[in-house]
Parts: sequence; structure tokens; C-alpha cells
Amino acid sequence: MREVIIIGGGPAGAVCAERLARAHSTVTVIDDHLAWEKPCGGGLTQKAIRAYPFLLDGPYPKKIIREIELRAGPTTTARLTVEEPIVIYSRQVLNGLLLDRAEHAGARILRARAVALNTTRARPQVTLAGGEKLESDFVVLATGARNRLLPATATSDSLDPLEPADLEQTLGYYIPADSDILKIKFVPNFRGYLWSFPRPGHLSVGICGKLDHHSTATLRAHLEQYVDEERLPREGATVFSHLLPSPRPATVRDRPVLGPAWALVGDAAATVDSLTGEGIFYALRSGELLGECLAANQPEEYPNRLRTEFSAELERAAQLAPRFYSENFMGGAVTTRTVEFARRSPTFRRRLAAIFTGTQDYRTLPLRLWAQLPLSLAEIGWHFLVD
Ligand SMILES: Cc1cc2nc3c(=O)[nH]c(=O)nc-3n(C[C@H](O)[C@H](O)[C@H](O)COP(=O)(O)OP(=O)(O)OC[C@H]3O[C@@H](n4cnc5c(N)ncnc54)[C@H](O)[C@@H]3O)c2cc1C
Repeated sequence: MREVIIIGGGPAGAVCAERLARAHSTVTVIDDHLAWEKPCGGGLTQKAIRAYPFLLDGPYPKKIIREIELRAGPTTTARLTVEEPIVIYSRQVLNGLLLDRAEHAGARILRARAVALNTTRARPQVTLAGGEKLESDFVVLATGARNRLLPATATSDSLDPLEPADLEQTLGYYIPADSDILKIKFVPNFRGYLWSFPRPGHLSVGICGKLDHHSTATLRAHLEQYVDEERLPREGATVFSHLLPSPRPATVRDRPVLGPAWALVGDAAATVDSLTGEGIFYALRSGELLGECLAANQPEEYPNRLRTEFSAELERAAQLAPRFYSENFMGGAVTTRTVEFARRSPTFRRRLAAIFTGTQDYRTLPLRLWAQLPLSLAEIGWHFLVD
């Protein structure tokens, strides 16, 4: 592909730009913020580290985390130690380093807001705030979860936006404090979780909850209670809120990601794990896959590449999420039982740690849990006897 405009310079857009620029396409990345503190935990699992080793090896400031604390309700806790670390970045640093790589590869980086998109012309046209119009052979929408630029599809004037049932509301604080422990708290029968992610110089502390299940007031009440429980200071903290895709199985399966001269990547394409909220790896990889398809002049291959690499996994996550967060098991919430089991069984704890670090896929998870069930139950029973 000769000329490509990418709207959005987050992980998805930046990696797509780098890949295309390396293949000698003329690439312009348009972003109204560029390297900014996009609301996020900033946590990268081993999936991301293995695919992009510079995220661990590079000189950029980051936290390397090996301890995870899980909590359900006020008192039930479990500690997981992970052999393969989780790496946590501030998003300003992560976006900056990815955009630098794109620029060094030859992409043009433009600080501007795109306000309109016309994909019905032979060459798609992007209008910038201020009125300037840019044309290209192809437009990539890497605009994130709040994407408002909706291209025309084969059957309608405009692609439908993500519905509330495919989104989570997030609220949080960046708190000036230090820690080396990543913390997650579950609330029984709540479709989401609270987190505290340590970064260099501050914590990202927040809550996510399904948009169609919980009000902002409910999220705020849980968040404030969590900040108090963790005894975190609010002085000097800054607040954030944003949307996080949490696609339903049918959305992962059926929502178009490609049109005649456009494609969606990252959050705009809803490539997020609905169980964990992990989106950065999928943004990076979807951007790279599209870049590879465009560089080979085969955009039509992009949906197949997505499907082969991870759509099936994201669909399984979307199927598991409502069961994990909303169902009961042995007379208690599944989330509470999960933390209780992790507290008592080293075998179960190791499996859970592998999910957190991204080394355990959902396809083989049920089989593994089943195979390890006798040992896990024996450990839980033994723990009850000696506790
Ligand atoms: C609170 C929160 C916590 C999260 N924590 C984690 C985590 O710990 N780990 C993880 O893996 N994932 C996490 N995620 C998900 C992760 O942040 C996203 O999946 C990831 O940022 C998606 O990258 P992206 O490039 O698709 O979109 P974004 O990072 O959202 O980038 C989109 C870019 O497009 C720009 N843009 C949008 N519209 C326009 C326009 N019209 N004109 C110009 N520019 C525009 C924006 O400025 C932005 O820079 C979290 C999400 C939230 C909301």
C-alpha cells in the first residue's frame, strides 16, 4: 500500500505505522494527544513481552512485578508469585517510545484532531479540526474505545459504534505512592474489578465495571472504599475515567474490522480480553498484523490473520467473563472461591498466576484445571486441616 493515514497514535496505530514505514509506505499518524497519560493500568503480560522484547530490555522507565495480591471482599486474600514478570509502564512513556520507533522507521507524526472521515470516495478523505483535508489510499482507525469516526460498510452508511453491552466504564486515580505488588480486588457479583498497578513514581488505582450493569455512582463508591481500605493518600492524586471494550462473543465474531479502504485496529476493533481487560498486547499485535497485510498489498487477509492469531481466544474470554464475575460456585461467588482456592492450593495458585502473566490460554485451561483438580482439592483439604 503506497499511502496510508493512521488516525490514533496509541499502541495499535504506532506499531501499524512502524511496520508500514519499514515496508516503505508513506505513513501519516494523526493523534490529538500523541504521548499522553491515556487512562490505563499499563500492565504488559508475557504475551506482549515475548512478541516485543524491547518492552522488557529497553532503557525506558518501567516496573517489573513478580508479586500479585488477590482479594475478594474485605478479608479473603491470596498472594501469587510469578516467575515470568508483568511489566508496567506509564502510558505516556509507552506511547512515546512506540511513536519514536514509528518516526525513526520513517512515519510522519502529526499532532491534530481528525473530525470527519469519508470512506465513500475512491481515495478516503480525513478532515482535521481547522478544516485541512488529507487523502490516502487507505485509512487505519486506531482511535481507541471512544472512536467516533465510523466508516461506511458494504451494507450501511456507517459502521455501528460499540454498544454499552460491549464496553466497561473505568474510573481511577494516579496516586503518588510506591509499591512492588500488583493488587486486584473482586467484589461479589460485580461485573468488573478494582486494581492497584505500581508504576515508577506512582500507582494506577482504578475500577472497571460493565457499562450496562453498574452506574458510575456505584463504581465511584467501590473505588473510594478501596482507596480507604488500601490507606492510599488522595493528596496530589489525579483522577481519570475512560471506556474499555469488553466485547460479547458475537461482537468478537461478527463485527467488521475491514472495509474497502479502511480497517480498525486495537480498541477501535474491540480486541480486548473481556475477562482480564488486557488490551495493549492485542492493540500492538492487531496493528502489526494489519501493517503486514497492507505492506503485502493484501488487506483482505487481515480478518483471517486476526481470527487465526487471537479472535478465538478473545471469544472464549468473552464467554467466560459473565460466568466468572456473576455466577456462584459451592455457595459463594466464583471470584471469592477463586481467591479462597488460590490461598489454599499451590497448584491452583500456579495456574492462576499463569493466567495473569498471559502464559495460560483459555483453550487448554479447562483441561488443565480438570487434570489438576485432585491435587488442588487435596491441597485445599490439607490446608483446612492445618489452618
Ligand atoms: C482504565 C484502563 C485500564 C487499562 N489497563 C490495562 C492494562 O493494565 N493492560 C492492558 O493490556 N490493557 C489495559 N487497558 C486497555 C488498554 O488501555 C487499551 O486496550 C489500549 O490502550 C488500546 O490501544 P489503542 O492503540 O487501540 O487505543 P488507545 O491507546 O486508546 O489510543 C487511541 C489514540 O487515538 C487518539 N484519537 C482518538 N480519536 C482521535 C481523533 N479523532 N483524532 C486524532 N486522534 C484521535 C487518542 O488520542 C489516542 O492516543 C486499560 C484500559 C483502561 C481504560
